[in-house]
Amino acid sequence: MDLKKVLNDIVHEIKPELGVAKVADYIPALAKADSHKFGIAVTTVIGETFQAGDAKVPFSIQSVSKLFTLTLALREVGDGLWKRLGREPSGNPFNSLVQLERENGVPRNPFINAGAIVVADVIVSAAKRSRHDDPAGNILQFVQTLADDPKVRIDRIIAKSEADTGYRNVALANFMKSFGNLENEPEAVLETYFKQCAIEMNCVDLSRAALYLANFGRDPLTGDRIVKSEQATRINAIMMTCGHYDASGEFAFKVGLPGKSGVGGGIIVVVPGKMTVAVWSPGLNKQGNSHAGTIALELFAAKTKSSLFGTTGRKH
Ligand code: GLN
Repeated sequence: MDLKKVLNDIVHEIKPELGVAKVADYIPALAKADSHKFGIAVTTVIGETFQAGDAKVPFSIQSVSKLFTLTLALREVGDGLWKRLGREPSGNPFNSLVQLERENGVPRNPFINAGAIVVADVIVSAAKRSRHDDPAGNILQFVQTLADDPKVRIDRIIAKSEADTGYRNVALANFMKSFGNLENEPEAVLETYFKQCAIEMNCVDLSRAALYLANFGRDPLTGDRIVKSEQATRINAIMMTCGHYDASGEFAFKVGLPGKSGVGGGIIVVVPGKMTVAVWSPGLNKQGNSHAGTIALELFAAKTKSSLFGTTGRKH
């Protein structure tokens, strides 16, 4: 299969979808993003990289970071994590509060904000136990190593902008603290959470960083074991069922691959055993997932016949 041609064709076919959807503006610093941008990159388990469009332009990964923090937390506490959060789709928006009250402060899954805040709490506690009490620094270093790029960084302006306006996340964290589901003070946990969301990297880096998930938990290019094989399987399963919030069913229906989105417009997708695909386009649909990115992934799955459920129908 000529992946270079597939990506070039997608960049061409996606043009009418650019600039039509609105970028996230509830975090003021994200409102400056340009909804005409579009990038796509693929990294295969044998180390080939293909890219097209704005694949080298850095963007704010936002909730895509939840994938890397989940990986770190599973390394730290293993299955003990599941005592504090579930792995069931929420069917609610990513920042919803209502379900959390009914379910006694136990978030449905690690990819909604409440769940990711619990995961950040695990990482804050682990940093305290270690000699390196810098949880956000630990997350950044982990992502830099996975991406094999020291230029991956935390954008302090975006982290501050979110901290200044993150009233809902403050509410979620305080609520969970009141239920006894946070070990640390909400302020410390949120500082880590806002910084992880403000990690900035490009599509090429992102597809490289997630490659262990396409290779049973081991980075195929360095040989490093990142997580146990069965943990990688579970992470992929949660991406499939929860990675797009209340549009996860729709994403499985249209793309059929484990994916994780962020309100910066990035999406990472895993084709198990084969490759990872990162897309970025900042215009969002109403569930807060990249509009053009989702359509590009539909095209990709159709052209490469890579949906896990069989062939898909979008014209190609
Ligand atoms: N930092 C964002 C928030 O907490 C992440 C949300 C997202 O990307 N879906 O609201």
